[in-house]
Amino acid sequence: MEIVRNRGSSRPVCDHCARRCVDSLLYKCSDRTFCTLDCMHASWIEEADD
Ligand SMILES: [Zn+2]
Repeated sequence: MEIVRNRGSSRPVCDHCARRCVDSLLYKCSDRTFCTLDCMHASWIEEADD
């Protein structure tokens, strides 16, 4: 997991909630981007729920 700074010009879309990441920090994991730690955790839980 990697925490990166959100550069204002290109706002990525969260891979979990599909909203634009407006925060100044992003969370990256396995080439996916999340706007909050909650979204990242939720994504993990969904994957484990198979
Ligand atoms: Zn999100």
